[in-house]
Amino acid sequence: MSDIPQERRVVTAIPGPKSQELQQRRLAAVAAGVGSTLPVFTARVDRGIIEDVDGNRLIDFGSGIAVTSVGASAEAVVRRASAQLQEFTHTCFMVTPYEGYVEVAEALAELTPGDHAKKSALFNSGAEAVENAVKIARAYTKRQAVIVFDHGYHGRTNLTMALTSKNMPYKQGFGPFAPEVYRVPVAYGYRWPTGAENAGPEAAAQAIDQITKQVGADNVAAIIIEPVLGEGGFIEPAKGFLPAIRQFAADNGIVFVADEIQSGFCRTGQWFACEDEGIVPDLITTAKGIAGGLPLAAVTGKAEIMDAAHAGGLGGTYGGNPVACAGALGAIETMKELDLNAKAKEIESTMKARLTAMQEKFPAIGEIRGRGAMIAIELVTDPATKEPDPAAAAALAKACHAEGLLVLTCGTYGNVLRFLPPLVIGQDLLNEGLDIIENAFAAL
Ligand SMILES: *Cc1c(COP(=O)(O)O)cnc(C)c1O
Repeated sequence: MSDIPQERRVVTAIPGPKSQELQQRRLAAVAAGVGSTLPVFTARVDRGIIEDVDGNRLIDFGSGIAVTSVGASAEAVVRRASAQLQEFTHTCFMVTPYEGYVEVAEALAELTPGDHAKKSALFNSGAEAVENAVKIARAYTKRQAVIVFDHGYHGRTNLTMALTSKNMPYKQGFGPFAPEVYRVPVAYGYRWPTGAENAGPEAAAQAIDQITKQVGADNVAAIIIEPVLGEGGFIEPAKGFLPAIRQFAADNGIVFVADEIQSGFCRTGQWFACEDEGIVPDLITTAKGIAGGLPLAAVTGKAEIMDAAHAGGLGGTYGGNPVACAGALGAIETMKELDLNAKAKEIESTMKARLTAMQEKFPAIGEIRGRGAMIAIELVTDPATKEPDPAAAAALAKACHAEGLLVLTCGTYGNVLRFLPPLVIGQDLLNEGLDIIENAFAAL
């Protein structure tokens, strides 16, 4: 288990000479289509610090894209996964099952919203979970159409590319895409033409009108939405939007799927972000934060829906790997023991207070949004026109990286800086990271 002093340390240029050497090897051996935010090669990670091969210690505001919420070397994850490694690495749950898989399914039934009977199926990646949610919804409803939303992101496989809104870099040149996917408006308050206060009801009315007029509610198997849109720019659908869409699904026999792959598992200060508006989804997809960095994903939902697919229709060689399941049980244990929902809320209040103060000085910050430890700022050239400023986002990220703070960008317009610190980050590192962001703005 890593035990690194929780202090930033920059001892070389970033990336340093050893990272640059590895980067040369990587460029020769790894496909160009696989990018990296920052070509700093990792040596060890502990809580809020990533130590690189040159001995630099970076503050982590990325968590490997919202994955290592409990840290990337959490004691309970390492302990349980190591113990499982000693016993067996794999049998394939579809050949001879094991208890860890069942325990994860039981934990998901307990933690996800709603007190109905629930079942789960486990997979390896978020995209795979979303694909399987569609398979299950189609088997249950005997319908084909799938509704998704503007700015939505659901993965990089063929079906999930079709479900994803943004062309570049996710879809460009990779078509044709899967059919029977229809995209409708989402309540993006900051950019809603008649103002944020109208976005919820107006966007819901438009979305429902498009579904009924263009697709036909009776043809729709599933409506899939991220309760806080992740890659699209940490967009929180304006109040009232999610309940209206959820109700429309219920009224029309449509399976409502909450894609909580990024927003779930304490990230927003709740076990799941849809709890904030009292939404109980029919199915929920999870991955990322679920297993402390080990590859695991799940579809969890109403038992009668989950049981609609015939035996053998769901699964995969590695789905619910025993080491990943042990990691998930360790991650969930850590979330409960350290009350990481409360930690996420503390991170939110620290970040929002500091960012709000910065917004008064730096008009490029058009909006501060998000919940818990899923916070973003949308950058604009002018707050009056709200013209997206992707160059500012890139420049700020670059300036932060040079100082040893790892931040990520996102958003349909590439103009959003997003902050996803591990929930176990210390308050000092959090504040130091915010100092670096503030200095980067001042230098912009
Ligand atoms: C990351 C993400 C996915 C895809 O997960 P992978 O593990 O990368 O396949 C799907 N949906 C959402 C909301 C995500 O953030």
